[in-house]
Amino acid sequence: MSVCPKCGAKVTSAVKTWSAALAQTKSAEGKSQIFIGVFECPTCKTRFRARVRHAQKLEQTANVKNEMVRIKGVWDGLMQTLKALREKIQMLEMERKNLLDEVASLREAAESRVASLEGEVGQMREEAKALKELLGADDNVPVQPLPAESGSNSS
Ligand SMILES: [Zn+2]
Repeated sequence: MSVCPKCGAKVTSAVKTWSAALAQTKSAEGKSQIFIGVFECPTCKTRFRARVRHAQKLEQTANVKNEMVRIKGVWDGLMQTLKALREKIQMLEMERKNLLDEVASLREAAESRVASLEGEVGQMREEAKALKELLGADDNVPVQPLPAESGSNSS
């Protein structure tokens, strides 16, 4: 807030403000931040420059800005995470599809293997049956024992 130098009216807010470094010659701190603003008198429309006393308000604005930047950062991070998650989900879904395809083709292969083994086993059963019938026809013929030519190796 400032006071119009022409008519003395109170001017509450600056049209424009900026910060300036003020050299404080007799201070140990050397420099301190001050704010200068352009004010416009609402009564006589006079424009004048003056020090702005609501540095705290500007600081708050800066804090809000920082907070906005921080929130944007958090938001960006979230978006990044979401993007990464979406990509991961897509990858996993693709992998799942590939695995399902692989399992399906393996099952198909296993089923055809089972079918071919069943075919082979059936054929072997037929052959065994035929052989048994062939042997069964000579059932009464005793199996000739091998002639004991050499009794030397009966240890
Ligand atoms: Zn004025």
